[in-house]
Amino acid sequence: MTDRPYLLERVGEAAVVQLYADGFEALPLNDKILTWHLYQAAIAGRDIYYDQRYARNLEMREVLEEILTHADGVGAAAQGGPYESRARDTVDPATLGEITNYTKLFWLNIGPYNNLTARKFVPGCDAASFRDAALAAARAGAKFPSRPGETVAQLLDRLEPLFFDLSVDPLCTSKTPGAGRDILEASANNLYRDVSMADLEGFVERYPINSRLVKRADGRMEEEVYRVGGMYDREIRRIVSHLQDAVAFATPAMARALEALIRSYRTGETGDREAYDVAWVEDRDSAVDTINGFVEVYLDARGIKGAWEALVYHVNPGKTAAITTLAREAQWFEDHMPWDPSWRKPGVKGVTAKAIDVVVEAGDCGPVTPVGINLPNDQLIRERHGSKSVSLSNVHEAYEKSTPPAFRREFAWTPEEAERAERWGAFASELTTSMHEVIGHGSGRVDDRLNGNPQLVLKEQYSALEEARADLVGLYFIADPRLVELGLLPADNRDEIVAAEYEAYARNALVQLRRVREGTQIEEDHMRNRQMVVRWLIANTSAIEVRRREGKTFYVMVDATAFREGVGRLLREVQHIKSTGDYQAARALFETYGVNFDPALRDEVVARVDALNLPSYTGFVMPRLEPILDEVGEVRDVAISYPLDFAAQMLEYSGKLPASNRVW
Ligand SMILES: [Zn+2]
Repeated sequence: MTDRPYLLERVGEAAVVQLYADGFEALPLNDKILTWHLYQAAIAGRDIYYDQRYARNLEMREVLEEILTHADGVGAAAQGGPYESRARDTVDPATLGEITNYTKLFWLNIGPYNNLTARKFVPGCDAASFRDAALAAARAGAKFPSRPGETVAQLLDRLEPLFFDLSVDPLCTSKTPGAGRDILEASANNLYRDVSMADLEGFVERYPINSRLVKRADGRMEEEVYRVGGMYDREIRRIVSHLQDAVAFATPAMARALEALIRSYRTGETGDREAYDVAWVEDRDSAVDTINGFVEVYLDARGIKGAWEALVYHVNPGKTAAITTLAREAQWFEDHMPWDPSWRKPGVKGVTAKAIDVVVEAGDCGPVTPVGINLPNDQLIRERHGSKSVSLSNVHEAYEKSTPPAFRREFAWTPEEAERAERWGAFASELTTSMHEVIGHGSGRVDDRLNGNPQLVLKEQYSALEEARADLVGLYFIADPRLVELGLLPADNRDEIVAAEYEAYARNALVQLRRVREGTQIEEDHMRNRQMVVRWLIANTSAIEVRRREGKTFYVMVDATAFREGVGRLLREVQHIKSTGDYQAARALFETYGVNFDPALRDEVVARVDALNLPSYTGFVMPRLEPILDEVGEVRDVAISYPLDFAAQMLEYSGKLPASNRVW
C-alpha cells in the first residue's frame, strides 16, 4: 500500500492527488449500500454549486467538455459509424493541450475563478484557436449549449469574453473592493443579481441561507428559494430521491436526520433547516454519515448565503480516539480559554468528534477539500444542541504522502527545523486541526443582544475572524500541559512538537503567498486569518523574527513561550470582537495585518516554489463506487475503486464518458 500512487499530475499551480478510503471494504453490506445512495445524492447536487459560483459556469463547462470529448474528430457519438463520417477534422494538438489544461483548472476550481484568490484565469491559447477547436468539435458531433436559434459561431462569440477577457467579471468574491465600491456588485458570483449592500438596508431575508436575492426592474427585492419547486428544482429532486433510498439503510437516528433534510429541501423553510441541524447533531453514533446542503458562507461577500456541498464518509475507528478525548474534555478547555470569563460557555453541549475517511465530496468541498469540518454553523444551535466535528483522515494522509520534502526544506531556517517538520509536522497539524474544529469553532458565547447571529454585524469580516479564533484556540492549547495529561501528546517530545507546529504556522504565512500570484490582497478567509495571526505576532511579540539569507526571506519562530503568550493575548481580543460584534475593530485588525501584503515578497516566494516545482493547492480524485446488481436488479454489493484519472472522473460525473450511465 505504501507505493500506491498519490500525486497523479500537476496542472499549472495545482497538484492532482488520488484519495483512498481504505475502510470502505470492511463496512457491513448495509452500510455500503447506504453509502452508495448517499454518494449518488452527493453527485446529484454538483451542478448547483457550479451555478452558485458563477451564473455562466455550466454553459462554459459544457463547451469545454464537448470540445474535449470530440477533439479526435470522431466524437463519442460517431464512433463505429462509416469511415466517411469520421472526417479527420481533428483539433490542433497544441491548442487541445491548452484547452485540456484550462478545463482541468476549471474543474478543480469549479469555474474560471481561482478558489483561493477568487480571481479569474483564462486559457493559455488565443481566442481564435479556441474557436477553431470548438468548430472542429462541432463538426465531429459536439452539442453546444446554444440558445434557441443561435448558431455555434454566435454562441462562441457570446461566450468569448467570458473565457478570454480578464476584465469581464474579474472576481468571484470581493470582500475588499476598494473605497466607494460595493462588495456585492464587485463579486461575480450568482448569489445576488443586481443587488448592492444599500438595497439590503431594511430588507429582512426570510431565507437568508438558501436563496438567491434578486432586485427586479421595479426595485422590488425577491428571494429565489433553493428548494423543490424553486430554484435548482431538478437537482434538488434528484438529491431527495437518493436520500429517500438511503433512509431504509440508515440507523434510526440517521433516518430521522435524513427525513428532516428531505423536508428542509422540500419546504426551504428556516425552521425545517434548523430541525435538520438538530437531528443531524443528535445522530452521534452512525458509522456512515453525510453532509448535504447549503452550508458554508465563504463564497458570499456578506458571509450569509450558503454554498451547496456534500460529503459522504465513514468513521475511521483507529484515528478517532484522540479527537474523542478532546470532545469529552470540551468543558475543561472552555473553562481555561484565555478570554474574558463572561464569554465562556457555562454548559458546553455535546461536541461529537470523529476522525473520518471521505468517500466522496462534491460542490463547495470537492475536488479541493477542507481537512476538518465543524457543523452546524448556526450559533444558536451550537449553543443549545452542540456540534459535530470531523477530521478528514484520508485527506490528511493524501496531503502528507504527496508533499515533496523540498517544500519543508526551502522555507526552514535550519536543518533542525526541517527535520522537526519532517518528523512531527503531520502529527502536529492533524492535532491542531482537530482542536480548531472541536474546541475552537464550538467554543465561546456571544452577547445576547446579537441574537446568536454575530455574522450580521461583522459582515465580510466574520468568516476570517471566526477562522482566526479557531486557529488560535488550537495554537494556544497545543502548548498546554493538559494535552500531555490527556495522553494526546507524548511528554518526551512535547517541546519538539510544539516547536514544529509554531514553526510551520509562521512559515505558512510566507509560503501561502505563492497562492496569490496576482494583486496585493488576500481574499480567502483562512488565508487572511493566517496572515493576520502571524503578522500580528511579528508586530506585537518577540516570537517570530524576519530574517534574510542569500536574498531569501524566512519567518523564524524563535521563542515558543512568547508565541503562546501572544496567541493568548490575540485570542482574548478576537473573542471580544466576536462576542460584542465590534465590526470596526475586526476590520482594523484584518486591514492592518491580514489583507494586504508586499508584492515583492510574494514574487520572491513564487520564484522559490517555482524553482522547486511546488504546487500552490491540491485537488483530489475521489474514490468511485459502483453497485453490483443481482438478477432482479437489486444491489447486492458495492465495489470501490480508485480512478487515478481526474478528467475521466469529471467527465463521468457530467455523464460524458461513453460507458457512463448517469445515475445521479
Ligand atoms: Zn475553521
